[in-house]
Amino acid sequence: MNASNVRTAADLYDAYVLKNYGRAPITLTRGCGTQVWDDEGRAYLDFTSGIAVSALGHCHPHWVAAMQRQSAELIHTSNLFRNPNQAELARRLVGHAGPGRVFFCNSGTEANEALIKLSRLHGVQKAGGAEGKCHKIICAKNAFHGRTYGGMSATPQEKIQKGFAPLVPGFVFAELNNLQSFAGLVDENTAAIFIETIQGESGVRVCTPEFLRGLRELCDKHNLLLMLDEVQCGIGRTGKFYAFEHAGIRPDAIGMAKGLGGGMPMGAMWVREDRADLFHAGHHGSTFGGTPLACAAGLAVLDVIEKENLLEKVTLQSVSWIAALKKLAEDLPQKITEVRGQGYLIGVQMASDPAPVIARMRELGLLVVGAGSNTIRFLPPLNVSGEDLAKSVEIFRNAL
Ligand code: PLP
Repeated sequence: MNASNVRTAADLYDAYVLKNYGRAPITLTRGCGTQVWDDEGRAYLDFTSGIAVSALGHCHPHWVAAMQRQSAELIHTSNLFRNPNQAELARRLVGHAGPGRVFFCNSGTEANEALIKLSRLHGVQKAGGAEGKCHKIICAKNAFHGRTYGGMSATPQEKIQKGFAPLVPGFVFAELNNLQSFAGLVDENTAAIFIETIQGESGVRVCTPEFLRGLRELCDKHNLLLMLDEVQCGIGRTGKFYAFEHAGIRPDAIGMAKGLGGGMPMGAMWVREDRADLFHAGHHGSTFGGTPLACAAGLAVLDVIEKENLLEKVTLQSVSWIAALKKLAEDLPQKITEVRGQGYLIGVQMASDPAPVIARMRELGLLVVGAGSNTIRFLPPLNVSGEDLAKSVEIFRNAL
């Protein structure tokens, strides 16, 4: 093929890839640590982490070695059989979440789908075996739980739901951080409360510890499941393994994904021990869930979080980074109205459309993610250096 006939990745996207995303106009080909490079050799600091997925940055040597070893040994078996990596990863997740059991799947929305099915089974039990009676789930306004029918139905946003009616029935929506609003929606048909511990996609809104503790009491009082979506905020991102640990509570079920595989598509649901028997053989499943390869990735992520003390590092380093972002907000109050979040899940509320600033940051070598309404999200990997955190604030300042 002569040079003029060579079609770039951009050309091929234009011709063949479904147009369901608004993508930045760069093509990434390589990554190492917190850096990625595009097909023209330009380097960027990656503060998207693939939307909170690449918890260890790109191509961490321990993760790469684990994947190379496992892919040469055994990649997939299905859940017709046991595999040692799934067993060990379940054990280690239970170590973090508390006594319970784990179901493995391949994404955040699938983890949440499993939670929704769990709540239906709980509702049937609560209603003395009557199917479909006690099926209501109270979610939060502005939530994001994914794009499958269950996840989308729990996501009360017009831009996500429009065009896809009829949705799954039974979801109602209360004000985040307003206990009365949730309590007011509880009735005899309610099976569960289901929220993100930190709303990520809708602009980084943190549940207060008092609110989470109040929800725990409310669920105990009415025999409701408290189900937390930790898909974005879990796996160390806030400096605790799960974000709800900051409130000192324990939910009945957790949805997780993203950082868990460190780049391998992987999700999981943890269910508290005394609720785990709701699922029987045949109730739910996944061909790919918990493959030896995906679980090797998960184990490698947990190894590095432990060995490199990443929870402590996130906790310590995020303090000065967030302070620097807040200082920037103070210096430019006409541009930045608020800095929100915890650890390495930070949303900067802009006074106007942040698209030009995000584009300018990209030109200056920093990748970040938009969220909610005029929010810029910063999601560095858990092992980012202090220098790169400082550099991100400098680039942001220059872009502004
Ligand atoms: N839940 C939350 C809180 C999320 O942030 C996301 C994705 O951004 C999802 C669920 C859906 O995850 P996935 O895209 O892996 O299906």
